[in-house]
Amino acid sequence: MKGSLFIVSAPSGAGKTTLCRRLTGDVSGVVHSVSYTTRKARPGEVDGRDYHFIDEERFMAMVRGGEFLEWAEVHGSLYGTSRTRVFETIRTGTDVILDIDTQGAEQVRQKGIDAVFIFILPPSMEVLRERLTGRGTEDEEALRRRLRRARDEIREYRFFDYVIINDEFEKALEELKSVVLSRRVHSSRVDHEWIGRTFGIGSD
Ligand code: 5GP
Repeated sequence: MKGSLFIVSAPSGAGKTTLCRRLTGDVSGVVHSVSYTTRKARPGEVDGRDYHFIDEERFMAMVRGGEFLEWAEVHGSLYGTSRTRVFETIRTGTDVILDIDTQGAEQVRQKGIDAVFIFILPPSMEVLRERLTGRGTEDEEALRRRLRRARDEIREYRFFDYVIINDEFEKALEELKSVVLSRRVHSSRVDHEWIGRTFGIGSD
């Protein structure tokens, strides 16, 4: 059987990346797609593991070559998902998680690609503000900008199949795992040929 594609979006500060990491660590048969980006690597990030860090010239060449399943500009940098890598992985029966912004999610939806759309919400605006403030190094204007962008992203939640509120991390993780696992046993995903052969019930 082919794997499934899961699109996970959230405003920054909702804890999406940590949730996706734990999911791929805890559940076998699901991997995180490594995006291409023009943003500089942060301390501790590894090329090829966290992102493929490339320059804008190479990124735009990939855009022209139709290599991205979706791509978008986020916070002034370009981010994109490799079409071949995703479909190759799915073809081998492995599930793939795309941790992408809402513009990217919208592109996947517009293309009519079979995928499960999951949105992660922080529990409140206050918590989001606290998480974005971090160690208090952010200036007021930058914080206001990020909060405005977060609110714009949250508006998109309606277009998603599942909405998970990340109030208590372990609970949110269980919910995310449940979505992935329930997709695997959905009747549209079962191997009808195998059932037919095993139970001697041809397609009559
Ligand atoms: P960060 O730079 O903090 O790792 O990610 C910033 C934002 O870009 C996050 O919302 C993340 O989900 C999003 N992002 C990461 N990779 C991709 C991608 O391939 N496509 C799109 N559209 N967004 C991405």
